[in-house]
Amino acid sequence: MKIDRKRLEGTIHELGRIGETPRGGLTRVALTDEDKRGRDFMVARMREAHLRVTVDQMGNIFGERAGSSPLPPVMMGSHVASVPTGGKYDGQLGVLCGLEVIRALDDHRVTTRHPVTLAIFTNEEGARFQPAMIASGVMAGKIALEDAYNARDRDGIRLVDELERIGYLGSEPCVPRAFRAYLELHIEQGPFLEEEGLSVGVVEGIVAISWSRLTIHGVQDHAGPTPMRIRHDALVAAAEVVAGVRGIATKIGGELVTTVGTLDVAPNIVNAIPGRVKLSIDVRDPKTETLDRARAMLDTVVKTACEREGVTYQLEHYWRVPSTPFDPDVVATVEHAAKAAGARYRRITSGAGHDAQYMAAIGPTGMIFVPSRDGRSHCEEEFTPMDDIEHGAQTLFLAALDLAGRA
Ligand SMILES: [Zn+2]
Repeated sequence: MKIDRKRLEGTIHELGRIGETPRGGLTRVALTDEDKRGRDFMVARMREAHLRVTVDQMGNIFGERAGSSPLPPVMMGSHVASVPTGGKYDGQLGVLCGLEVIRALDDHRVTTRHPVTLAIFTNEEGARFQPAMIASGVMAGKIALEDAYNARDRDGIRLVDELERIGYLGSEPCVPRAFRAYLELHIEQGPFLEEEGLSVGVVEGIVAISWSRLTIHGVQDHAGPTPMRIRHDALVAAAEVVAGVRGIATKIGGELVTTVGTLDVAPNIVNAIPGRVKLSIDVRDPKTETLDRARAMLDTVVKTACEREGVTYQLEHYWRVPSTPFDPDVVATVEHAAKAAGARYRRITSGAGHDAQYMAAIGPTGMIFVPSRDGRSHCEEEFTPMDDIEHGAQTLFLAALDLAGRA
């Protein structure tokens, strides 16, 4: 039994036209008109496939294909919203492969014991409303519904108002629900699978992540009459921190990655010594204890840099998630399915967060990765070859079928 590659390719192109950018990318930001059109497209496909469609209080969409017994479903899901000028594969590929699995079950007239449900999660990217993965977070009971509703975008518009405006403020409670397994197919967003000539990654879990913010207080002064010996330059200290943060990854090595992604300089003018700098620090590692070791080194890097420049600082570690191991049985099932699908595969850890991270807190969860060309994502160049997508979708199909059981 196989999925239909041609049909899957066709749907990828069809959904990809909604919010398509002139350069072949995608702008379909959460709860915008484009997101609504993407959702409407998916709901129409779900109804065509005779799924029972429901929408919950966070706008998450579920389409259930009945099973032969009243058992919890095997869920397959991802997201259809994108980052601005993102790509056509991140998120939507998981949703479309899930749809293809349901269509293939119909083609082959398969009745499963467990229902099979396709899920679409709201605002996974966090590009418009923070935090990311807010809707699966509410479902997992990690984020209060009230807080999620009151999240505001850059223009002060509330999430709940946008849900209502686009017609996706549903009535189903957004609470933990029982499932046999949750499976998410997603692009790798890194270079490993492509570099190694593999088409499928059997994801064992998601890395531990830490976010910190640092504010450095120097002394703002004139760039001319102030001699070097009496300066307390916040940006000079920040520069040392940026290099030091890179140095932590060099020193610890392994799979640790460290990033300073934002730099906010005040007053940010040509002829003043910077008096205040704010920056962000993102640290990730498959092992939580390595993450914590890196975070301790970060404290030292910041202290040393700021003392050298004679500036004060506040360092705030405001978000930390331990690594998320996926369910060993689901991972083994995915691995078995990858083999049966004839895919070249290996086990891998996800360096990015996904809805699967929160779903893993509710029930048995696993993910399937397919390669990203040049390791790139969140850009218009994002691309996955159809041969790899076919292998990924077939792996999802076999894994879902295995977990749902034939009636
Ligand atoms: Zn994604």
